[in-house]
Amino acid sequence: MEQFEVIVVGAGLAGLACAYHLAQNGVGVLVVERGDYPGAKNVTGGRIYIQSLKTLLPDIWEGAPLERPVTRESLVFMNREAWVRLELASQRYRRHPHSYTVLRARFDGWLAERAEEAGAMVVPKMTVDDLRWEGGRVAGIVSGGDQVAAAVVVAADGASSTLARKAGLRGIPRPQDCAVGVKEVLSLPQRVIEDRFQLEDGEGAAMLMVGYPSQGLRGGGFLYTNRDTLSLGVVVGVREAMDSDHEVYRLTEELKDHPALSPLLREARLEEYSAHLLPEAGLRGIMPLCTHGLLLVGDAAGLCLNLGLTVRGMDYAVASGVMAAQAIEQAHQAGDFSANSLSVYESLLRDSFVLRDFRTFQRVGRFLNNPRLYRQYPEAACAALEEMLYLDGQPKESFVKTLRRELRKQVSWWELARDAWEVHQTL
Ligand SMILES: Cc1cc2nc3c(=O)[nH]c(=O)nc-3n(C[C@H](O)[C@H](O)[C@H](O)COP(=O)(O)OP(=O)(O)OC[C@H]3O[C@@H](n4cnc5c(N)ncnc54)[C@H](O)[C@@H]3O)c2cc1C
Repeated sequence: MEQFEVIVVGAGLAGLACAYHLAQNGVGVLVVERGDYPGAKNVTGGRIYIQSLKTLLPDIWEGAPLERPVTRESLVFMNREAWVRLELASQRYRRHPHSYTVLRARFDGWLAERAEEAGAMVVPKMTVDDLRWEGGRVAGIVSGGDQVAAAVVVAADGASSTLARKAGLRGIPRPQDCAVGVKEVLSLPQRVIEDRFQLEDGEGAAMLMVGYPSQGLRGGGFLYTNRDTLSLGVVVGVREAMDSDHEVYRLTEELKDHPALSPLLREARLEEYSAHLLPEAGLRGIMPLCTHGLLLVGDAAGLCLNLGLTVRGMDYAVASGVMAAQAIEQAHQAGDFSANSLSVYESLLRDSFVLRDFRTFQRVGRFLNNPRLYRQYPEAACAALEEMLYLDGQPKESFVKTLRRELRKQVSWWELARDAWEVHQTL
């Protein structure tokens, strides 16, 4: 039987960051990926916050195939016919970009090459079906009829991690703890993108949309500008999608026809279509992160945080991959791969921005379950502004009166007071 020091299952950002770090430090590591190549099966909306890359992969990050630094971002409240857009265009973002748009097929391929150069072995087209056990501890993987042995296995197999379940660390994901995203990549010439989105040469825009894109379900739409493509999609809660008549793939289609988007997408050609799960259980879905001989990283560990204004999973994937590698290196030196020894990983994550963020925003998940955020408030925002700014020769009522009337059409005072209190408590 073949034997490696570490086997990483999944060549996404988490697995590859872990493998790169281990290989660079002389640890023998095998990365197993079920897709035809690293990145083939990986889906993201499209924006990576780069601090993890800069600090944890300092030697290589500058060569990463990033698309455009995001210098303009907007939050758009939409009903069927109107939209209200809050936009931030920042000189600071220009001087010190902190996030870039990204396409995973390119990015993951690049990171896999760096891991291989450092000495990792990356094997695509190989699906891991089970864990190999020895005396009550994980001691390798089973793929097809074959077994490969290792002192440690890193489960980097994404949102519905088979290995986390096989190890007894997680159950089957519950619909209320996940969202599903559908995404299209649409091509347009570079210049056209820059003109339509009012971008300087090479700069990028990010747009998050609430209300119409998810047709009132918990979730929203996103649009990111890449070099010569756009990433457009919709994310909705799985529970809400199951309980509704909406088919998720249709939401993206309908969004494309909305008057806020159709002029931006004119003549764009469909290049790629994908769908994927996002873990959304928040802090309560994260522990435990290891057992004897096994660690969970990235989405497999539940490290994805959707705050409505930001969606983060890729930077946490990189950070958790590198921290898992650091814990494995320590365990390696001590010759002890027990759960106790590997739990250094949990401490590293707890002391880092990763679990601190999850603690800071632990109430946000509950807040975002409020259905009024996705129908009544976007509707009220659009209707109130439309009314306030529309002049038809009749005497105008005061803005406050209009706002109050439009809000009251959508929510009761009691709901409004409760939601305002929740905002205060949550943010
Ligand atoms: C629609 C959508 C929009 C998003 N938007 C953003 C965003 O804008 N910014 C952001 O930071 N995050 C975003 N996220 C979250 C982010 O994409 C994920 O958190 C991130 O990709 C997790 O990386 P990972 O390496 O843990 O998992 P993945 O990228 O899912 O990689 C897992 C890998 O494991 C492989 N695998 C799975 N099972 C097996 C098996 N049994 N054997 C072998 N290989 C296996 C898969 O093929 C895959 O390559 C979004 C997610 C979605 C779905």
